[in-house]
Amino acid sequence: MRAALYPGSFDPITYGHLDIVRRARKVFDKLTIAVVENPRKEALFSPEERRGLVEQALQEEGIGDVPVITYSGLLIECAKRLGVVAIVRGLRATSDFDYEFQMALTNRDLDSDIETVFFMTAGRFSFLSSSIVKEVKRYGGDVSKFVPRCVERALEEKFNTKGSGLYF
Ligand code: ADP
Repeated sequence: MRAALYPGSFDPITYGHLDIVRRARKVFDKLTIAVVENPRKEALFSPEERRGLVEQALQEEGIGDVPVITYSGLLIECAKRLGVVAIVRGLRATSDFDYEFQMALTNRDLDSDIETVFFMTAGRFSFLSSSIVKEVKRYGGDVSKFVPRCVERALEEKFNTKGSGLYF
């Protein structure tokens, strides 16, 4: 059985992440999502909140059989413990490439048996990031095209923004 691990901050999960999940599931027999800490980013949601939102989003989108875990520590150790053959990452534009290339080569140095596999996102998601979604929602914008309903609701609660944000 060919199992893979899809790690990320998922702060919060977007349709872009879900697109990668769908693509990876076609290629691997089993896919596990790991919500991990990224020391380069300050998170809006706690790891447990993020995991809960990933689970709800998968359910809302009708994607079953994808376990979601939280993990803090070295990613490659998580991959080894799960016995996966690959780490899945998503590529949007060339801007992702440098960082992803560096991560993939580092992880290969740490364990040469585990490959990093990149899936190219659908064109309509190539500009989409969790940061953009948070920025739009913070000011009361409509993010329904970018994230499932459960995520939109969670963002509304965090930012307390339901209206248009037009205050004078
Ligand atoms: P990280 O902090 O580990 O980069 P993210 O949650 O931002 O975590 O992203 C996790 C993975 O999903 C990364 O490989 C990222 O490139 C990919 N990803 C994020 N947004 C999209 C998107 N819109 N389309 C495709 N892949 C994406």
